[in-house]
Amino acid sequence: MPTTSYQTPSPQGYYGKFGGAFIPEMLHPNVEELQQRYLEIMQEPGFQLEFRDLLRDYVGRPTPLYYAKRLSEQFSTNIYLKREDLCHTGAHKINNTIGQILLALRLGKTRIIAETGAGQHGVATATVCALKGIECIVYMGEKDIERQAPNVARMRMLGAKVVPATSGSKTLKDATNEAIRDWINNPKDTHYIIGSVVGPHPYPDMVARFQSVISEETRWQLKEKTGSELPTHVIACVGGGSNAAGAFYHYLDELSVQLVAVEAAGHGVNSGLSAATTALGKPGILHGSKSLLMQTEDGQVIEPHSISAGLDYPGIGPLHAHLFDSGRGHFMSATDEEAMRAAFEVARLEGIIPALETAHAFAALNRLELKPTDQVVLCLSGRGDKDLATYMKQMEMLGE
Ligand SMILES: *Cc1c(COP(=O)(O)O)cnc(C)c1O
Repeated sequence: MPTTSYQTPSPQGYYGKFGGAFIPEMLHPNVEELQQRYLEIMQEPGFQLEFRDLLRDYVGRPTPLYYAKRLSEQFSTNIYLKREDLCHTGAHKINNTIGQILLALRLGKTRIIAETGAGQHGVATATVCALKGIECIVYMGEKDIERQAPNVARMRMLGAKVVPATSGSKTLKDATNEAIRDWINNPKDTHYIIGSVVGPHPYPDMVARFQSVISEETRWQLKEKTGSELPTHVIACVGGGSNAAGAFYHYLDELSVQLVAVEAAGHGVNSGLSAATTALGKPGILHGSKSLLMQTEDGQVIEPHSISAGLDYPGIGPLHAHLFDSGRGHFMSATDEEAMRAAFEVARLEGIIPALETAHAFAALNRLELKPTDQVVLCLSGRGDKDLATYMKQMEMLGE
């Protein structure tokens, strides 16, 4: 074990050079309350008991670790899929929203706000608010509301109020601004649920801890199957980085395990239409923390592009920026086309239709030189039902 852990940030929320809490003065009371209370609350036995019960009976955990035989044969290696696609609501995001809502209730909050781009985080948040009977407001860009009608309908059916953000580009960053404005105006009764390992300290650490159940389970499940808790590789896609943080967490300080993070290269890393943050990004401050982000010479955020809405983000969380900077993480990217091809391959070899986000992780299998003795764990972050329209377009194009 190294003397400093990759798992835990400094008391100020730094992972190496990255992290911290860069927030407007008016948000200090809200964020400080969280900073002071999150660890104590998360460690309470009563909290842990309720969190674990809901993960088991409501989410359906532990999710299986499945040996993908035909995919393994294809790559002449051993591939295990961590089936987060089998979680209630179809992806890993609910692990975090359950954790945060239990925390919010213990802080005495009666109102939940969130922002969402594609709607996946909004649906996970609306779901747990219905579960707990608590008011839920989801901010969403007006353009995204038009583009993501099925998820908007889901949120409304679950009882959430979806509020359009009508300023600027009418997309995710405008929704984020609206959510922050709301939180400033309602510091006492409202908790803001952030959906990935991004945002000011303590969010990256808090979300990583909630998602760490993924690698906690992987360790004993892999031991049952192979006799060892340690794989040679763990592969995950990275938007903000929460499924990767969860899949890596209990392996961060096991230096024999290669951690492979796969970003979205869009039309190609150098095409101008990409979301490959580590390849293109420079240090900067976005959404309350210092990290790597895609920006122009004078620090304007560059609009990212990915075929997959969940990876279409111009930054990554500070933990991942540190894993990249320190060399602990192995960062790769996959293009829209590579991801699409990988999704069809997995569907036909394993009978599993992965989310477009996850398809990027599968695409990385082509780039890694895997050996027959390797034991590879791939985090299957979500299912592809939500991406069927995009997949169908591809089938029409290929005449399949
Ligand atoms: C949202 C999402 C992602 C990307 O978010 P991370 O925080 O990087 O995990 C990946 N996969 C699926 C299925 C998602 O819904």
